[in-house]
Amino acid sequence: MKGFAMLKIGETGWITKDTPECGPLDAICKPLALAPCTSDVHTVWAGAIGDRHNMILGHEAVGEVVEVGSLVKDFKVGDRVLVSAITPDWNSLAAQEGYSMHSGGMLAGWKFSNFKDGVFAEYFHVNDADGNLALLPEGMDLGAACMVSDMVPTGFHGAELADIQYGDNVAVIGIGPVGLMSVAAAAIRGAANIYAVGSRKNCADLAVEYGATDIINYREGDIVEQIMDLNCGPVDKVIIAGGDNDTFDQAIRMLKAGGKIGNVNYLGEGDYVKIPRGEWGCGMGHKQIAGGLMPGGRLRSEKLARLIVANRIHPEKLITHRFEGLESVEPALMLMKDKPKDLIKPLVVME
Ligand code: NDP
Ligand code: ZN
Repeated sequence: MKGFAMLKIGETGWITKDTPECGPLDAICKPLALAPCTSDVHTVWAGAIGDRHNMILGHEAVGEVVEVGSLVKDFKVGDRVLVSAITPDWNSLAAQEGYSMHSGGMLAGWKFSNFKDGVFAEYFHVNDADGNLALLPEGMDLGAACMVSDMVPTGFHGAELADIQYGDNVAVIGIGPVGLMSVAAAAIRGAANIYAVGSRKNCADLAVEYGATDIINYREGDIVEQIMDLNCGPVDKVIIAGGDNDTFDQAIRMLKAGGKIGNVNYLGEGDYVKIPRGEWGCGMGHKQIAGGLMPGGRLRSEKLARLIVANRIHPEKLITHRFEGLESVEPALMLMKDKPKDLIKPLVVME
């Protein structure tokens, strides 16, 4: 089969590989829709997960099942399925402890385009199919469905980690596709004021549509000052879905004592994360920081899909660029790398 791969750090290309083999608990799918991710860009061009050779990229897909293992109970050939970007081993001790994303080691629930070939191919392999696939609801837009792989669950995880409660005043730092879904999640969880930080106009407009009450442009001055002014003091919760190593420092400064930070951003540089000692209460301010890879799995996909079917979230609005055919994953990924101003998320639909 043909697949679009990371050849080595900084280099991509098309390769040919054997079609993956299906173990007793697994499924083999062919893609119906695919999306590149900022994480694919970090993987190839920032060497985020170390060197990989001839590894097929991609972890965001909607698929059709073409083969199932002998022990798979709930899926059959021909089923159209939502595919979680994170596909844990559900019988692992880490999953039993509530940290499915770390089954097999820290971050090892992330298998596609990390420990095995990803989804940018004619066929891809899904481990633990009963635990990691979900049926595609009848009539669901393929763009919305594809966002259930990663953008929706990751954005929502930011809101879970920050423990958003009704009435909270919340800052969401970063409103790319992930942060935009965090805005939507904070709104659903009942946040009062949502201060969304970004600079691109289309992201800002969508943030407002998803529930942001104010847009803060980090290019136009210190975001701590801007947010504390608007909020008349520190916020209850911060979700970090963008920015750099200074972002923690800013998040701590704008957070009230006893507040919580949920980070889903990839921290790509430096050996340490900055926490301002004084504003952290010299270690006694009860300002909690949680950072996490999103949990994957079927139940989560089913529940998030329910929100789409019930018209409560509209992730298809993230899709700004549509392509057709497997070979289009290459220009779609390059678009993600170059991030033109009008881009939020590209989608590739198979012909
Ligand atoms: P984008 O690059 O599309 O969005 C990043 C956002 O951060 C933009 O709104 C950008 O603003 C904003 N930003 C950039 N620099 C700053 C700054 N200095 N201060 C404040 N805001 C800033 O990324 P995605 O939404 O695709 O992904 C967000 C992060 O989530 C990435 O790091 C990605 O790797 C990670 N991720 C994590 C996952 C997980 O499970 N934890 C899964 C998937 C992704 P603008 O562009 O408007 O100027
Ligand atoms: Zn992704």
